[in-house]
Amino acid sequence: MTSFVTLKNISKNYGGVKALGDVTLEVTKGEILTLIGPNGSGKTTLLKILACIEKPDAGCLLINGEKIEDKNRNKAKLDTTLVFQRTALFSTSVFSNISYGLKLRGMPKRQIGNTVRKALEEVKLEGYEHRVAKKLSGGEQQRVSLARALALNTSLLLLDEPTANLDPESTSIIQDAIKRINREKETTIIMATHNIFQVEQTARRVALLIKGRIVEEKTFDKMLGQSSNIAKFARRGNIFSGTSEILNEGISHVKLNQGLTIVAATQRSGNVTVFIRPEDIILSKNRFKSSARNIFEGTITEISDQDPIVRLKVDAGVKFITQITKKSFLEMHLNVGTRIFLTFKASSVQMI
Ligand code: ADP
Ligand code: MG
Repeated sequence: MTSFVTLKNISKNYGGVKALGDVTLEVTKGEILTLIGPNGSGKTTLLKILACIEKPDAGCLLINGEKIEDKNRNKAKLDTTLVFQRTALFSTSVFSNISYGLKLRGMPKRQIGNTVRKALEEVKLEGYEHRVAKKLSGGEQQRVSLARALALNTSLLLLDEPTANLDPESTSIIQDAIKRINREKETTIIMATHNIFQVEQTARRVALLIKGRIVEEKTFDKMLGQSSNIAKFARRGNIFSGTSEILNEGISHVKLNQGLTIVAATQRSGNVTVFIRPEDIILSKNRFKSSARNIFEGTITEISDQDPIVRLKVDAGVKFITQITKKSFLEMHLNVGTRIFLTFKASSVQMI
C-alpha cells in the first residue's frame, strides 16, 4: 500500500520547548489513524504541521506524494482541513460559517447552497442555515465546525479531540459522521483523542505520543496486549485483565488481577481482558435494589469536572472511571473521600 501522508523525522520546538522530536509516520489513503497521549505530548502540534499551518524545524512532510515546502505550503493548506478542539465560529449565521471556506476555494455560488445543506445533514443539523452560530449549544457548534470541514471535501481530514467535553448525543453524531465520510469518500482521517472508546469505535491504528515522540504504534486489537504502553494509557478507561470462569446460562465470573471478581454476561474462560464503559456504571449514595449483578462500594479518589459531565475515579478494590452529569454530581454532594456504590449489569462487561 502506498503512503498518502508521510512524516519523516519531523521536529518542532517552541522557544526552548520541544513539542515534537523526530516523528516518523506513514498513513495510507482511506485510513483512520488516532493519536493518543497525555496533555502536552504534541498531538495538536503534529496536526498543525499536517494541516500546513505550522512549519516543522526539521524533517519532511509529504502529502499525496508531494513534498510540502514554502512554495506549495499555502496551496497544501487549502487541500486539508483541521477541526480544532475548541470551536472558533464566526458570530454570523451557520450558512456563512460553512460557505466561507467554499467561497475562498472558488466554488460556484449555485453549488454552495446544496453543499452546505448536505454538510448540515451529515451532522444532523438540517435546516440550521439561518441560526446564529454562536448561539448554538457547545455540541451543536462543534457539529457546525465538522460540517464546515466536511463541506470542503478535502482528501485529508484532521480532527483535534473533536468530541472533548461534548454531550453524548453530539459525540455519537460526530463519530458516526467521521466513520461515514471515511467509508463513503475514502477520506483519510487523522484524529487526536483522549477517549479510548473513540479509538475503539473509529480507528484501526493508534499511535501513542509521549513528550513529542511516537513511542508506540499499533492496530487497536494488538494494542490491548498486556505489555503495551497504549494499553496502560487506555486503562484510564475501565480496561482490566483477569481470569474468567463460566458459571451457567451465559454468565461468567471474572477474577480481576487486582482481586475483585465481577460478573460478565459471556461464556469465555481463561485469561481475558474486559472493558466497562464509564457511562454504563450507575453511581448512588445508597445500595439500591437492582437486577444488575455487579454492585461494589468504593471511595471517590479523583474528580474531574468536564462540564456538562464530571468524571470520577472510584476505588472499589479496582479503580473504576465513572461519569455522571454535572447536575447529578451537584445534587448528590459528592467529594473526594465520599463513599459511593457502583452498579453495572453483567451485560455491560465487554470482553476484548
Ligand atoms: P497536546 O495537543 O498533545 O496537548 P501540544 O501539541 O499542544 O500537545 O503541545 C506540545 C508542547 O508544545 C507542550 O509542551 C506545549 O506547551 C508546547 N506548545 C504548543 N504550542 C505552543 C506555542 N504556540 N508556544 C509555545 N509552546 C507551545
Ligand atoms: Mg492538544
